[in-house]
Amino acid sequence: MFTRPLGHDNVREWLRSAISARRLAGGYLFMGPDGIGKAGVALEFAAAQRCEAGTGWSCCECGECKRVLKGIHPSVKSFAKPADKTAFPVELVREIVDEASVKALEPGRRVFIVADADRFNESSANAFLKTLEEPPKDLTFVLLANNAAQVLPTILSRCQPVRFAPLDDAQLQRATQGWDGLPVSPEGRAILSRAAQGSPGMLRRLAEGKVLETARDFLKSVRDDPFHASELMTAALTGDDNEAKREQLRDILALLTAALRDRMSGALGAFDVKPLTRAIGQEANSADAMAAAVLRLDDLRERVDGNANLKLACDAIALSWPA
Ligand SMILES: [Zn+2]
Repeated sequence: MFTRPLGHDNVREWLRSAISARRLAGGYLFMGPDGIGKAGVALEFAAAQRCEAGTGWSCCECGECKRVLKGIHPSVKSFAKPADKTAFPVELVREIVDEASVKALEPGRRVFIVADADRFNESSANAFLKTLEEPPKDLTFVLLANNAAQVLPTILSRCQPVRFAPLDDAQLQRATQGWDGLPVSPEGRAILSRAAQGSPGMLRRLAEGKVLETARDFLKSVRDDPFHASELMTAALTGDDNEAKREQLRDILALLTAALRDRMSGALGAFDVKPLTRAIGQEANSADAMAAAVLRLDDLRERVDGNANLKLACDAIALSWPA
């Protein structure tokens, strides 16, 4: 069952006005962290283009809207990278391009929703560019990307970018009401929300899986025994394939980065208010060390997105963790 994503009213309003003014771009690129609501809004946007109610947006009630939101409308298709693949396969792009060139079964606008637009490689992007630049007149592409920094410039330049803002605290709280497994302490919740970048879907993933527990275990042991901490982290990565493990390590790194930023703002806060004593030097040093560590973590996260050896990546995180 389709649930309307919370927030993003400005995005909806902006897309609605494009539909009303009949000024739709051939391609849109929705960018924002996993689970923030991009796919849900993309479906609403597709339904809005076919809705019978004529309000300019999806009424969610008419036959057209219902079929689109259920994912069974022949004019609205969704595509995503197979879970076990690191890159968006060129064969799938050819399928999309072929589908786009076939005449629609039903009159009216068509929408193709393409997830994982940040996982195109040179060859899959090249196979897509011409169609993305000049799609058939009745067709709109909506590309979804969790990681804006990883979208190839050739893809980015052919789409109208749409950024999805993080949900604010009140919206996030509403979205997570009644969930089990969220940390009890306000600090724990704050770190988790920050790591989730205002995305309820990501918050749920971080809180429900072993990610939170692994990050905790790592933090407990990293100062005394970094190699042990690294072993714990490596052993916690489970899954059928490397891609699943990579996904988990990315989540753990997001949590560790948030925890580090938390400590860092604590140290900087102390630097602000304390009188000029020797302690300031120490606090400043530790804030510097943490800032450096945050940068290293960001760098590592990028390498995990690439093809870094996961065991070595865990070692590198543990050994460079600021005391
Ligand atoms: Zn409708």
